[in-house]
Amino acid sequence: MTLQDPVKRYPAITPPEQSLPGTGLDAEMTPKADLGEESYRGTGRLTGRKALITGGDSGIGAATAIAFAREGADVVISYLPEEEKDAQHVKEVIEADGRKAVTIPGDLRDKQFAKDLVAKAVEELDGLDILVNNGGKQVAQESIEDITDEQLEATFDVNILAQFRLVKAALPHLKPGATIINTTSVVSYMPPEKLVDYAATKAAINTFTKGLAQQLAPKGIRVNAVAPGPIWTPLQPSGGQQPEDLPEFGQSTPLGRAGQPTELAPAYVFLASPESSYVVGATIAVTGGMPTP
Ligand code: NAD
Ligand code: MG
Repeated sequence: MTLQDPVKRYPAITPPEQSLPGTGLDAEMTPKADLGEESYRGTGRLTGRKALITGGDSGIGAATAIAFAREGADVVISYLPEEEKDAQHVKEVIEADGRKAVTIPGDLRDKQFAKDLVAKAVEELDGLDILVNNGGKQVAQESIEDITDEQLEATFDVNILAQFRLVKAALPHLKPGATIINTTSVVSYMPPEKLVDYAATKAAINTFTKGLAQQLAPKGIRVNAVAPGPIWTPLQPSGGQQPEDLPEFGQSTPLGRAGQPTELAPAYVFLASPESSYVVGATIAVTGGMPTP
């Protein structure tokens, strides 16, 4: 591969103020994000693996799903029913690569869905050996007084309680060599004042990951996390940032630009692949240079 300047790999975007409804769609973002459809090249690092990725319809989860498939894995993605359009795009890209992609819509706040999702994934893939807990909810608010009980509970339900429940449901199916990867965030270490509820869930994910990693290591199941910095995904223009903060999104990082979803994919591939056999309870920071502890 040719030498590539990470500062210039992607332009420093200045997204116009926008407010996408619901969880937002990749299909409706301005500018478009790079999920790696044209750029990600696999080298067989996950041949024959079976992966479940929550929030695999868009953003980081979609880029990870596409990369896993190009590395030889079959993939189940979960997402909300309103995100069907994005999910179908990911499915098409994966099927064009000759891998299996199964779409299972549902709400991660629903306890039963977490169980059913794992059961269906195991049935469709004939087993499961990679669980990526990536679905997430982020709603910026000026003041704690603006955070409703509904927002508070939904943020904890989706971001941390669902991860816990999915691991519990998946565990009976995971054999030695299986891996669990949880998506945390740089904000767990540097909580922005407008994201106090969200940042608290991400700190919980960090501690959950490290504790669980020790518990499951003797069984040969590795648990790790990826901590993204500011990445251009539907999460941000659908309430994750206040619209007036979008034009500067990611520009204060040392690389001077927001990250694109496909720039996260190699971290997930590494943690899922047997190459990372001695990496347990770790967090890979993909932050454009924002420091992490
Ligand atoms: P995204 O919007 O593309 O993905 C989040 C996904 O979560 C959605 O596509 C949706 O399918 C899923 N989701 C949300 N609520 C749900 C619910 N109730 N039921 C089922 N699924 C639900 O955005 P993304 O940025 O790619 O987010 C992926 C992960 O990355 C999240 O955990 C997010 O917190 C984390 N993260 C993102 C950034 C960033 O800057 N974009 C930074 C740090 C961490
Ligand atoms: Mg989505």
